[in-house]
Amino acid sequence: MKLELFDSHKQSDFIEIESNVRELDIEEKELSLDDPVIVKIKFHRNGDVIRLHCDVCARVILMCVRCIEEFRQDIEGDLSLVARRIRKGESLHDYSDYDSDKDGSRLIFVESDTNVIDIGDFVRDTILLSIPMKPVCSDTCRGLCSVCGKNLNYGECGCKRERFDHRFEELSGLFEEKIISEKK
Ligand SMILES: [Zn+2]
Ligand SMILES: [Zn+2]
Repeated sequence: MKLELFDSHKQSDFIEIESNVRELDIEEKELSLDDPVIVKIKFHRNGDVIRLHCDVCARVILMCVRCIEEFRQDIEGDLSLVARRIRKGESLHDYSDYDSDKDGSRLIFVESDTNVIDIGDFVRDTILLSIPMKPVCSDTCRGLCSVCGKNLNYGECGCKRERFDHRFEELSGLFEEKIISEKK
């Protein structure tokens, strides 16, 4: 997803671009996406430094953790970027240790003779980070029967089973997340 902004006549502007799954190089095993992916960008340019704020909207295809059916969900995420064009004679390697600014904005460095910023990887990461850990097709999803496996959203199966309370499932999810974050 390439933006040509360094030689723009405008110091600041708002642009909206549409992208798609192929352009963003999102692999099917990571995530199923419906086209299009919309990115709304506000930018402000000061010489060779451009600040960008991007709102990303995408429709993803997720699998419900309760009933194991696919469903579509709109997700939104945002990111702040600072793109800096390096001076003539400098090398991009000199900047390889810098990846975020004091305020948390992600940094992009580009060659002195280019006009192009590629934000594709950042948009892709923003989408992946916006996906819920435990997607549920609906708050009222009744899940699968623990005895016969029937999807209970389509009606009762008649099995005798212990009543399963989904609140416990969410609690166990929180517990797993805690373990994962403690391991990091
Ligand atoms: Zn469901
Ligand atoms: Zn059943």
